[in-house]
Amino acid sequence: MGTRAICRDCYREVLWTVTDAGKRLAVDPEPDETGNTAAYRDGTGTFRSRRPTDELPIMAWEKLYVPHVATCTARQRRATQKRPAVLPPGVLDLTAYRRRAGGRS
Ligand SMILES: [Zn+2]
Repeated sequence: MGTRAICRDCYREVLWTVTDAGKRLAVDPEPDETGNTAAYRDGTGTFRSRRPTDELPIMAWEKLYVPHVATCTARQRRATQKRPAVLPPGVLDLTAYRRRAGGRS
């Protein structure tokens, strides 16, 4: 399995990494010093990523990457899109529902 893939939102190349928590995180394929995610390729060819901290700063074998969600043009476009003022009948406003159901935090 390759670690590079095409983002299905913006069709740009992304690099799939696996975080400390075992979650998949897509980052831009080229290292970027302004990124907030440290990643390296482990012995099996999997890219491991994590957030550098004061206790565990970036290591010599790691490089900084930018999470793809920060640069994905398709996601940005969607985020700026206006939601329809009135939802079509039968469509549940999940965002509002979750806000209500999630309680006050
Ligand atoms: Zn994208």
